[in-house]
Amino acid sequence: NMKVRFAPSPTGPFHIGGARSALFNWLLARKEEGQFVLRIEDTDLARSTRESEENIKAALKWLGMDWDEGIDVGGHNGPYRQTERLDIYQEITDRLIAEDKAYYCYCSQEELDEVRQAQMDKGETPKYNGHCQHLTAEQKAQYEAEGRKPTVRLRVPLNKTYAFDDMVRGHVSFDSNGVGDFVIVKSDGIPVYNYGVVVDDHTMGITHVIRAEEHLSNTPRQMAIYEALGWDIPVFGHISLILGKDYKKMSKRHGATSVDQYRQLGYLPDALVNFLALLGWAPEGEQELFSQEELIQQFSMDRVAKNPAVFDIDKLNWINFNYIKKLSDEELFKLCLPHLKEVGIAPDSLSPKDIEWLTLLCVTVRDHISYGAQIKEQVGLFMGDAVFLEEGHEAELKEVLKEETVPTVLAAFRAKLEAMDTVTPEDVKASIKAVMKETSLKGKPVFMPLRVALTGQMHGPDLNNIVTLLGKEKCLHRLDNVKL
Ligand code: GLU
Repeated sequence: NMKVRFAPSPTGPFHIGGARSALFNWLLARKEEGQFVLRIEDTDLARSTRESEENIKAALKWLGMDWDEGIDVGGHNGPYRQTERLDIYQEITDRLIAEDKAYYCYCSQEELDEVRQAQMDKGETPKYNGHCQHLTAEQKAQYEAEGRKPTVRLRVPLNKTYAFDDMVRGHVSFDSNGVGDFVIVKSDGIPVYNYGVVVDDHTMGITHVIRAEEHLSNTPRQMAIYEALGWDIPVFGHISLILGKDYKKMSKRHGATSVDQYRQLGYLPDALVNFLALLGWAPEGEQELFSQEELIQQFSMDRVAKNPAVFDIDKLNWINFNYIKKLSDEELFKLCLPHLKEVGIAPDSLSPKDIEWLTLLCVTVRDHISYGAQIKEQVGLFMGDAVFLEEGHEAELKEVLKEETVPTVLAAFRAKLEAMDTVTPEDVKASIKAVMKETSLKGKPVFMPLRVALTGQMHGPDLNNIVTLLGKEKCLHRLDNVKL
């Protein structure tokens, strides 16, 4: 039975890359009807925060990824926060020491640095020189008396090959000679990542480890630990880096990098999941929009690419645009509301009338936004009494208003508007129809001057909605001030 995990270090914002790793594990677990574990790797005491942990959990939930075992939900293999598992590591460390597979190392940082420098000066790859490999009881007692706090190092055999078949990268092998005896427990008793991860993956029964490519070089060390403990290794799958469109490693320069930033910009969780799934995984056909159900059915590690995934924001925007199209009016309003508040369009407490107006606003510009925050660029049209001709199109716009029939059309529509008690899109539609009848004009010669006079633009959202949103007073004002 497949059991996978996501094991984030809660040391900062939750990045897109982390979310992608979580997603691949989650999709696989759901597809194979296995188990998905969430474990918190907080052994970097200086950088780990509860805030970051909360943030990661909230982001996973927001993206619709649930976990069967782990932090908060519990399970048989807890605790699920590494700093709460120190006694578990301790027990295993004692065993490794008793079996002489690991040993105490009393070298100070200064001593280690010196050795390292000397090795580098000689052009060698730095590695532990084995100083404490065979200390006598007296030597140990002497170091203890000096007050030195030992680390624990694993004995790494020489002339061995660590080889495995990676689900993504195929056959991978490392030479053990480059590894050297490495620290598994620091002098403060906290295990290093490579050690904690092995103990946890084994004791939690993890069968498949899918994680970022940056951990590939850690795998031989982890294999050395599995071997010392006589444990079977899990199946590994190292998924490629995420690069920006310039083929450089994805960073802040490329725009938003954290899940939270995308949430705040008004992206939809299902759209982001759809996009993340395609960062490295290539479905069989041409389909690009996938529901979570479809992703679960179609996802497979065989189709996860070895080469780096490129983060294409235009593609995310296109996907999100398609998900926005499917929202109900109410959902769309909820997505856009925080952004309308940001620019002072929506009051803090909303009356039913406000909600109605704002919802119509969102619905009207729906096809012009890719994510929630873009609503801010759309509201200018509905604000203020003045009309500004769209930049770069002034000549074209003036041309529209020069048509001989324009004054008649505008006057006829003005009269209709004046006579209205309420303005709804249906009312506006009916009055435009009436204007056509009166002037014996059809289509463009009526629509265009009205649009240009009221909005200063050649193209835009539905005219009936625009008039409704502007309301009678603003429309009359705009019509009265049009320069013909
Ligand atoms: N805590 C590690 C990280 O966040 C986990 C790596 C792994 O999955 O083994 O990078």
